[in-house]
Amino acid sequence: IDSDTSDEAVRATCDDATICKRFASSKSYWKDPYIQYFVRSVGERKAPEINRGYYARVQGVNHLLDAFLRKTQCDCQVINLGAGLDTTFWRLKDENLMPRKFFEVDFPTVVARKIHNIKTKPPLSKPLIETHSTDSLLLDAHSLDSDRYCIIGADLRDISNLDEKLKKFQLNPELPTLLLSECVLVYMTPSQSSNVVHWAAETFPTAMFVNYEQVNMSDRFGQVMIENLRRRQCNLAGVEACQSLDTQRERFLKTGWEQSDALDMMTVYSMLPQDDVARIERLEFLDERELLQQLLQHYSICWATKDKLKLGLSQLAF
Ligand code: SAM
Repeated sequence: IDSDTSDEAVRATCDDATICKRFASSKSYWKDPYIQYFVRSVGERKAPEINRGYYARVQGVNHLLDAFLRKTQCDCQVINLGAGLDTTFWRLKDENLMPRKFFEVDFPTVVARKIHNIKTKPPLSKPLIETHSTDSLLLDAHSLDSDRYCIIGADLRDISNLDEKLKKFQLNPELPTLLLSECVLVYMTPSQSSNVVHWAAETFPTAMFVNYEQVNMSDRFGQVMIENLRRRQCNLAGVEACQSLDTQRERFLKTGWEQSDALDMMTVYSMLPQDDVARIERLEFLDERELLQQLLQHYSICWATKDKLKLGLSQLAF
């Protein structure tokens, strides 16, 4: 597979994520009033186990993100790496949980699409204008910079360029920083994703990194998942390296993070607030509970912390 083809296949994955989130939120698995402005139609029905999987992913990531925001009393910044068409900025604004500044990075072509939607849809642009006080709002085709929200087009495999662009947009390395990557590192080679994680550890003395992606890929079910990705012409070196929860944690522990934990999504699902889990389990009948379990056992959340300011970040968990 040549690299342009596989990059294009990777960029297309952001539509999958948004389409699945759009469908699940339309079924009331969780509320997302903004995602409709990024994908117009609800689209084809998705299987109940897919919807439950996305529910676990969204709630699991939000749990750690919100815990970090509360711990730092929002006196922090968030950097969503490979954010795609993610709507977290608007959720945090509505829930009064806005960090000092919320950054997103993705390929320039993905960013251009996102910015176009923001420009043309008032429900998206209004909250952005409301959180902006100075008159220097930058909005061009490939970047957006306001007081509280910044979207940058950059390739995460080019670390010096990434670092330079973030600093140009007033990133403050001394501020407690939450880095998030949701189904992103897996599309890079192991050495490229280690570079990202290492750069983050070197740059931010007080930080938490939350990474959601595939795990346990060496078993039979994992091999079937890899086969599906192969058909889509994605580069597979990253996903093949997702062998276990320990390999997930080691990536952080080897690159300068002080502490790291990882859970598979079946475990996360069982630790989410069970009244809400009971509510979503009533939304759609699920035939094969075993299939859901297998699916959830092949995704994980891994998080790592560094805590120079001694805020107690290592306590953040499920
Ligand atoms: N994080 C979003 C979510 O969960 O809804 C999007 C996930 S999507 C599966 C993966 C995203 O990572 C895509 O938007 C893709 O363009 C981005 N991505 C992957 N590799 C990247 C790279 N090297 N540089 C910048 N963005 C990248």
